[in-house]
Amino acid sequence: MRILVVEDEKNLREQLVAALGKKGYSVDAAADGQEGLYYGNEFSYDVAIIDLGLPKLNGIDLIRALRAEKRNFPILVLTARGHWQDKVAGLEAGADDYVVKPFEMEEVLARLNALIRRSAGHARPVLEIGPIAIDTASQ
Ligand code: CA
Repeated sequence: MRILVVEDEKNLREQLVAALGKKGYSVDAAADGQEGLYYGNEFSYDVAIIDLGLPKLNGIDLIRALRAEKRNFPILVLTARGHWQDKVAGLEAGADDYVVKPFEMEEVLARLNALIRRSAGHARPVLEIGPIAIDTASQ
């Protein structure tokens, strides 16, 4: 799983990178919106975490720009406490879910897992080899 993290607060960014790395994600981290846009357009990701308050290009504009470029990976946004309008704006710009700061890392990880599961669709994990099909979920 490859994940893009766009967060300008250094400590928080490093915590996310460390926690996600420990969970086995391959993490790319960007410190501002422009850098995030570069990564998002240049590489393919399974999921992204985007802070809404970012320098150079704010999170809302970043999400809009990525969606306009048909970058369809799921996006989890980070919003500041008390800024409920940000959640609405983030979702309308094309984000899939949000977490309010300060958050527990476990919540972020759980929401990421849910987004990845959903984006994988409800396709059954079936392996087909010639006339033989193996449903890896039901055996
Ligand atoms: Ca920020």
